[in-house]
Amino acid sequence: MNIALLAKWVWRFGVEKERLWCRIISEKHGAMSSHWLPGKVFNPSGISCWKIIVETSSLINTCSKFTIHSGIKVYFWFDRWNGVDSLKFSFPNLFRLAKDKFSSVISHIDNGNWVFDFNRRLLDKEVTQFASLLLRIGSSPPPLNNMPDTRRWSLGNNGVFSVKTLYYELVKLVSVSDFPPKFVWNSIIPPKVFFFVWCAVHGKLNTKDLLLRKGMTLDQECIMCGDAIETSGHLLLHCKVTYKLWLNLIPTGWCWIIPNSFLDLVQGWQQLNQSSNSLYWNLIPAAVVWVIWGERNARTFESSHTFKTDIDLIIEAKSLIISWASVFGHIIVSAGDNWDAIFS
Ligand SMILES: [Zn+2]
Repeated sequence: MNIALLAKWVWRFGVEKERLWCRIISEKHGAMSSHWLPGKVFNPSGISCWKIIVETSSLINTCSKFTIHSGIKVYFWFDRWNGVDSLKFSFPNLFRLAKDKFSSVISHIDNGNWVFDFNRRLLDKEVTQFASLLLRIGSSPPPLNNMPDTRRWSLGNNGVFSVKTLYYELVKLVSVSDFPPKFVWNSIIPPKVFFFVWCAVHGKLNTKDLLLRKGMTLDQECIMCGDAIETSGHLLLHCKVTYKLWLNLIPTGWCWIIPNSFLDLVQGWQQLNQSSNSLYWNLIPAAVVWVIWGERNARTFESSHTFKTDIDLIIEAKSLIISWASVFGHIIVSAGDNWDAIFS
C-alpha cells in the first residue's frame, strides 16, 4: 500500500508540471527521465524522501500507455510508448550510444522517416540490435499532429491513476494470492480502522506475546478474560469475550467454527455470507476487532476506565456497523432490536 501511495506522487509529477512543488523538485534534482517521470536522485543530503518516491517510477511507466500526437512530450528512450517496456530497457546498448538520451519522439522523425544520432558507427552486433529496434517501432514513424501527447493509466478504465488499481496489481505481482485485498480495502470503513485490520491480517498487532518476544517485561494474561495468554488469535477470535461478540453479530442459529487466525477468518469470510446483504456482512470483522482492541487498550492503559460489559461491547460493535454504513446512505431502522433482519 505504501508503495502505491508513493507512486501517486510520481504520477502527479507528470501532470502537475506547473505546480510549485513540481518546479521545486525539478530545480532541486535536475534532469528528468522524461516529461512524465522525475529523474534519479543523486547524492541526496540526509535522507531523501523524494529519492524513495522516484524509485516507484518504473511502476508508473510500466502501467502507463502513451498516445503520440505531437511527439514532443513523449521521450523516445524512456517512455513506454511502444511495446511492453521502454526502448531504453529493451535496447540498452543502443541507448548507451545515443547522443541525446532525453530526446523526444519528434526529434527522431524527419520528413516521415526515422532518424538516429549515435556517438559512433554501429558494430555488427549493434546493427542487428538496431534492426530489431526498427522492427519493433515500425519502418514508418507514427503520423504527427498538433495535439498534445497523452498518457493513460492502463490499469483503470478511465485512464487516470488510482492507488487502488496499483495496489491490486502489486498484490498480484508479489503473488500474495491468499491476501484478501478486497476485504481489507473497504472504503466504507474509516482509514484508521482498515489500517488496524491490515495490521491484524499481517499479524502486526502489538499483543502481549509479541511484546514479550521483543524483550519487554509484562504479564502475559489477556485482560479481557484473564484466562489465557494474550495473542492476536486469542484476543481477536478465541477469547470468551470476543467470541460472544462474534456470536451476537452473525445471524442467529449459525453453526460456526472460529478459524485459527484472523487471516484465515477474513479469507473465508465472504464465502460464509449466504444472505444478499454483503455490505453489512463485510463490516462485521472490522467492527468486532476494533471494539475489542479499543476496550483492551482502555483496560490496559486507562486507570480510571470502567470495564464495559459484554452487552456494552456488542451494542458498540453493532452501532459502529450501522454508522459506517449510514455514511454511504445505507440506513437501518431499529437494527439493534432485530439484527438478523439485516441479513434476511
Ligand atoms: Zn481473553
